[in-house]
Amino acid sequence: MNEEKKAVNVTEQTARKWLHERGVEIQDIADLVFFLQEKYHPKLKMEDCIHNVERVLSKREVQNAILTGIQLDMLAEEKKLLEPLQSIIATDEGLYGADEVLALSIVNVYGSIGFTNFGYIDKLKPGILKDLNDKSSGRCHTFLDDIVGAIAAAASSRLAHSAENAE
Ligand SMILES: [Mg+2]
Repeated sequence: MNEEKKAVNVTEQTARKWLHERGVEIQDIADLVFFLQEKYHPKLKMEDCIHNVERVLSKREVQNAILTGIQLDMLAEEKKLLEPLQSIIATDEGLYGADEVLALSIVNVYGSIGFTNFGYIDKLKPGILKDLNDKSSGRCHTFLDDIVGAIAAAASSRLAHSAENAE
């Protein structure tokens, strides 16, 4: 295996491992995709949601966003960032916005309809997003909640596009 391929594998494996360690499973994200798409696809199967989440997770730019966001969340939890960033991320300050901007690099991989899904799901916070936003947990998920919403939004776009192509 050449060096570049090895690096790709390490990136993907680490991104998947960190999601799991931070309490997010593929099924949790697939549930969000189902939530977003069931009204448009009456015969939607959970396995299709899972498949599309897997495809999104195989993209390098998505893995990079996961690694970057989760790293910052973890450092904030351990109080290892410098001020003022430490307090901003630890308290999930509303006007910060860089968490959403990072997530947009995921949302856009399958076109702009992902953007609508992202805004919608961020407003309603169903399923795992509600847990990630629970500030009483003592954990910091300032970046992760947006990343998970963005993966679900991108997987929904991918699913919608492939359904369109199938017709
Ligand atoms: Mg956030």
